[in-house]
Amino acid sequence: NENLIEVKNLKKYFKISKHDILKAVDNVSFNIRKGETLGLVGESGCGKTTCGRTVLGLYEATDGEILFKGKDISKLRGNEKKEFTKNAQIIFQDPYASLDARMTVGDIIAEGIDIHNLHTGKERTEKIYELLSLVGLNKEHASRFPHEFSGGQRQRIGIARALAVEPEFIVCDEPISALDVSIQAQVVNLLINLQRNLGLTYLFIAHDLSMVKHISDRVGVMYLGNLVELASSGVLYDKPLHPYTQALLSAIPIPDPDVSRTRKRIMLEGEVPSPINPKPGCRFAPRCKYAKPICKEVDPVLKEVEKDHFVSCHLY
Ligand code: SF4
Repeated sequence: NENLIEVKNLKKYFKISKHDILKAVDNVSFNIRKGETLGLVGESGCGKTTCGRTVLGLYEATDGEILFKGKDISKLRGNEKKEFTKNAQIIFQDPYASLDARMTVGDIIAEGIDIHNLHTGKERTEKIYELLSLVGLNKEHASRFPHEFSGGQRQRIGIARALAVEPEFIVCDEPISALDVSIQAQVVNLLINLQRNLGLTYLFIAHDLSMVKHISDRVGVMYLGNLVELASSGVLYDKPLHPYTQALLSAIPIPDPDVSRTRKRIMLEGEVPSPINPKPGCRFAPRCKYAKPICKEVDPVLKEVEKDHFVSCHLY
C-alpha cells in the first residue's frame, strides 16, 4: 500500500518558561497507508493529540517532516495548501464543546463547504441532507440546534462536518471518549462503514485500547512524547514487546477466562513522569522493571525487530 502520510523525526516542543521545555512529541516517525486506520494510544499527556494536530498542520512542527502524498506540508502554498486543509480533517473529542450552540446543524455541517466555496443555494442544501443521511440523521435535523441532540448524535454531526469537504484523511481525536459506553460502539461502527464506503484514511487517537484494536489496522503506542511500539493491531495485542505496552495491555479486562488466567495485571510504579525537560535515556526507565544501566543514559530508537513490528527499547 502506498503511504498517504509520512511522519519523519517529528518534534513538537512548547517553551513553557525560561528554563522549561515541554517535549510533547519527540522524534516520532511513522507512516499512514492509504485506506488504513492507524491507531495511536497512550495515557493523557503522552503527546498523541499534539501529534495528530501537528500532522494536520494545526501546530507548526518544531523539527522533522510531515509528508502528505509525498509533499512536505510546511512548504505548501496557495492552492496546494488549500487542497491539503480540505483533504485533511479532524473529528474532535468533545461533541459538546466543538459545535457552536448558536448555529443550526445545517450551517455547522456546511462550514467547510462555505469556507471552500464548494456549493451554494439548493446544491448546498442537498449536500447537507446527503451528509445527514450518511451519518444516520435526517433532513429535519438541519434546522435544529446542537442542544437538541444527544452526545452520540452530536458526534454524528461532527463527523458530517468533517465529511462535508470530501476529505481523504481524518484525524479522529478521541472521538468516543466523551460518549456513553453504550453509544461508543455505534459511533466506531459508523466510522468503519464510512471508511469502507468512502475510502477514507484515519489516524485514530484514543486511550481506550479495546476500541482501538477493533478499528485499527496498525497501532502505535506513545509514552511521554515517544513512539515506543508500532505493529499490526493483532500482533501488538497478542505479542506486545515493549514493557510499557505490556503494562498498558495488562490493564484491559479480557472476557475469555482462559486468557485472563495467563495475563497478569502489571502495576506501574515509580515516579510520576513528566514530559517537561526529560532526562536522557529511556523515558520509561523510572517505571521499568527491566531497566539496565544503559537505559538511563542512551535514548533507545525505534527499530524493526521483526517484519512490520517496531520497538524502541534496549531489550531488543
Ligand atoms: Fe525498560 Fe530499558 Fe526498555 Fe526502557 S529501554 S523500556 S527502561 S528495558
